[in-house]
Amino acid sequence: MSFEKIPMSTPLVEMDGDEMTRVIWALIKDMLLSPYIDLNLEYYDLGLPHRDETGDQVTVDSANAAKKYGVAVKCATITPNAQRMDEYKLHEMWKSPNGTIRAIMDGTVFRAPILVKGITPYIPGWKKPITIARHAFGDIYKNTETIVPAGSKAEIVVTLPDGTQQRQTVHQFKESGGVFQGQFNVDASIESFARSCFNFALDTKQDIWFSAKDTISKKYDHRFKDIFQEIFDNEYAKKFAQAGIEYFYTLIDDAVARVVRSEGGFIWACKNYDGDVMSDMVATAFGSLGMMTSVLVAPDGACEYEAAHGTVTRHYYKHLKGEETSTNSIATLFAWTGALRKRGQLDGNDRLAGFADKLESAAVETIEAGIMTGDLAAMSTLPDIRKVNTQDFLLAIKERLEAKL
Ligand code: NAP
Ligand code: MG
Repeated sequence: MSFEKIPMSTPLVEMDGDEMTRVIWALIKDMLLSPYIDLNLEYYDLGLPHRDETGDQVTVDSANAAKKYGVAVKCATITPNAQRMDEYKLHEMWKSPNGTIRAIMDGTVFRAPILVKGITPYIPGWKKPITIARHAFGDIYKNTETIVPAGSKAEIVVTLPDGTQQRQTVHQFKESGGVFQGQFNVDASIESFARSCFNFALDTKQDIWFSAKDTISKKYDHRFKDIFQEIFDNEYAKKFAQAGIEYFYTLIDDAVARVVRSEGGFIWACKNYDGDVMSDMVATAFGSLGMMTSVLVAPDGACEYEAAHGTVTRHYYKHLKGEETSTNSIATLFAWTGALRKRGQLDGNDRLAGFADKLESAAVETIEAGIMTGDLAAMSTLPDIRKVNTQDFLLAIKERLEAKL
C-alpha cells in the first residue's frame, strides 16, 4: 500500500507503562500508528524498573513535559505495594504516578465509556456516554479523624492569621462516645476544578452538571456551588451560549435521579467522594473496564489521555508463561486516538485528527462485526461472536482501518 505518512509538527508526550498494557502499547504503536504517522514523540518510560532507577524523577519530568507541550498519552502503570517491592526489588515504595502527574498538572480526571452496539448498559436508557469529572482533592481524602470517648467535647478551632481563634462546639459527647472528623478544601483547587470542567465541556460540546449537598452543608458545599457559578458567569457563560451548551447546578440527590432517567451525553462534575463512588457505579453499569477511557485536564487546557483500567496483571502473568491472552486494547487505543486528535486540533493538522477518527471507527466497527476480546464476548448480545486473542483483535482493527485510508 502506498500511503504518505502523516507528519506531526509538535511532539506528543508518551508515557510508557507496565505489564500487559505495556505489551499492548507496543503492539498498538507497531501495528496501528507507526505505519501511518511519522510519529513525533517525546518518550518517557514510566515502567516500574525505570521509575526505580531514576528515583521516580522520570514521572516528574513526564508531567512537566505534558504541561509544556499540552498533550500526553499514558500507559497504565503499577502503583507499588509491599508485594511489588519484592517482585521488582524496589529501592522505595514509589507513589502512584497518576497521583504525582495529577498534582503537577493540577488536573481533573474525566472518565467516559466507549459505547458499541451489542454491549447494552445495565440501564438500557443510556444511549450516549456519561462522563464523570471527579474533584480529586481534599474532603474526606485529606481528613483528620479520631475516636472520641464518652464525656468528651469535640470542637473546631480556626487560628486566624492575626492569631485570634474562632471556636465552635461540634458535639458534647455524653453517655456514649463516638467518632469525630475534620475535613477541608481550598478555593484555588475548587477554582481549577471548575475551569477544567468548563473547558472540557466546551471541548467536547456537552452540557455539564455540578452537584453537591448545599442544602445540608450550607457553608462547605455551598462554597463549591458559589465558586462554580461565579467562574461560569464571569468566564464561560458567553462561550457556552455560542457553543449551544448548558451549565447547571443541582442537588446531588436530584442529579442521581436525573442521571438514571437520562439518555447520557453529558458531563457530571462531582465532589471528591461522590466522584469516587459514582464513577464506579457508572463504569459498571456501562459494561467492561476495558471500554473506559480517562483524561486528565489541567485548568490551562493541557491534557493527558489514558485507559481507566490498570496493567491487567493476571493476563500479563499468562502472557509471560507463553499462554494466549485476550485482553481488550480499546481503552488504551482510545487514549492514543484522543491524544492524537487533540494534537491535531491544536496544530491545525487535519490529517492527524482525521486519522484518529478513522482508527476509532475501525475499532468500534470491529466489535460491532462480532470480533472481540473475551471480556466483551462474555457480555455481548450479538448473534455471531468470534472471540479473538490480543494480537488478532488489533489485526482485525488494522484491516478495517486500511479500508478507510
Ligand atoms: P486492572 O489492571 O484494571 O484489572 C482488573 C481486572 O479487570 C483484570 O484482571 C481483568 O479481569 C479486568 N480488566 C481490566 N482491564 C481489562 C482489559 N483491558 N481487558 C480485559 N479485562 C480487563 O486492576 P488491578 O488488577 O487491580 O491492578 C493491576 C495493576 O494496575 C496494579 O499494580 C495497580 O497498581 C495498577 N493500576 C494502575 C492504574 C493506572 O495506571 N491508571 C489504574 C488502576 C490500577 P479478569 O482477570 O477477570 O479477566
Ligand atoms: Mg472508587
